[in-house]
Amino acid sequence: MNKLTCIICPNGCQLSIDENMNVTGNICNRGVEFAKQELTNPQRTITSTCRTTFAEYPVVPVKTDKTVNKDLMKDIVKEINKVIIDKHLAIGDIVIENVLNTGANIIICTNALKEG
Ligand code: SF4
Repeated sequence: MNKLTCIICPNGCQLSIDENMNVTGNICNRGVEFAKQELTNPQRTITSTCRTTFAEYPVVPVKTDKTVNKDLMKDIVKEINKVIIDKHLAIGDIVIENVLNTGANIIICTNALKEG
């Protein structure tokens, strides 16, 4: 029996998954999907910060624009740490395209660097 906390919504249901992948403890079906994916191919949205050349905002928040394999988290953060943003970007603009060939982009999560 595996036990997991569902992280899809703030309810944080405590899930139990038996050897036949039957899930209990979930309030909704999203918990079932989460449990199955978590045990086979766990995915996460990666959030981090990225350095900039802008003195007033030396670091800004960034994230992947879709979920990626959880095991790539450290390597993706290393890629983010290689970048220094030196141009004006608006929220949602791409900082790293197709990071580590995952199909996910690293995007900026703030308008602090937006021009004007
Ligand atoms: S099972 Fe449904 S209600 Fe419970 S935490 Fe997951 S998404 Fe939220």
